[in-house]
Amino acid sequence: MPSPADDASAHAEALELAAAGQDDAARALLADAVRRQLDPEAINDLAVLAHRCGDATEAVALLEALTHLAPDHTAARENLESLREIPAPWPPRLDRIAADGAVAALIEDHAELDPLRPGWMQRLEFERQLSVVHRDDEQWLVPGYCATCSTHQLFRCDWVSTWGGTPNFRERLHCPRCHLNSRQRLVTQLVKAMGQPPYYVYELVTTFYQWAATTLPQVTGSEYLGHDVPGGSVINGLRHEDALELSFADDSFGTIVSCDVFEHVADIDRALQECARVLRPGGTLILSVPFDPDSQTVQRVELRDGEPVHLLEPVYHGNPLDQEKGSLTFYDHGWDLVDRMRSAGFSRAGVVAAWSQYHGYLGRGMQFVLVAQR
Ligand SMILES: [Zn+2]
Repeated sequence: MPSPADDASAHAEALELAAAGQDDAARALLADAVRRQLDPEAINDLAVLAHRCGDATEAVALLEALTHLAPDHTAARENLESLREIPAPWPPRLDRIAADGAVAALIEDHAELDPLRPGWMQRLEFERQLSVVHRDDEQWLVPGYCATCSTHQLFRCDWVSTWGGTPNFRERLHCPRCHLNSRQRLVTQLVKAMGQPPYYVYELVTTFYQWAATTLPQVTGSEYLGHDVPGGSVINGLRHEDALELSFADDSFGTIVSCDVFEHVADIDRALQECARVLRPGGTLILSVPFDPDSQTVQRVELRDGEPVHLLEPVYHGNPLDQEKGSLTFYDHGWDLVDRMRSAGFSRAGVVAAWSQYHGYLGRGMQFVLVAQR
């Protein structure tokens, strides 16, 4: 068993590696030493290395733990303050998502999708084959690696909300441990790669919020409880917020996360402007919606005098607070959502395209999550 002296020499060796530019190796060595012995200096240096390796979330978590462990550690407190003021990394590091060589790319210009198209048919074919193999099964398991839980898991799949003859992989492939589905697990990876506290999440009664509240520091969640409820009020333990008129002050958050909410808001541009307003400069919006990069946004409903007027046949999605009726879908979002993010006050915006058999990020050959930085 390594002694404290061994840990001290591992610390010194890690600093030498870091000085030689080998940050990843230095970080791995120092993380081992810290696991054995909670030496404040080593934790502080590990946080600096984590940040240099592009893992700001890990750096903040380490420094927050350290300021509790050693409240007098001035350097840790100063590092934590300065980390909270710098912008999130851009572009985000996506190499961990694409560990199996699958797709993980940030697309800021529509033409950047073209290099991903040649494999699209093969990916769809893989999904089709998976459907054929399991056509007689009510439920089945798909092995993969849950990056949210950092363990290998058997993802659960079935035919609920099936789309076009193949399973709705984006909404299924639930991990039995974190209970998140494919798109939610992908969002957690982007949150880990780009997120900085404080966090605001547009949901509260969900497994995703459970993950956020137990994993991330400083998380506020909310639900929409009705048009006559004042923003910020709490009813039966649930905070109410209207995406079109958030009750938060300007510059309140480092990261905003929205999972399949923004197809249900009555005015997408107003909702995005509110996100930009309550994010601090350099803060990040991570937003998933059903998204077709090759079409333009179609508005299905509009409000006139507060009443919905249907421009197209009504479509409802599942809503944990209204299981009978669900949430009315106002928009089918397309590529212009990226431009709308820029118009709403974000300095950078794009779409992360991802597909990974290893991680169980499947569905229509590619999944998309929108990201933007104020
Ligand atoms: Zn999991």
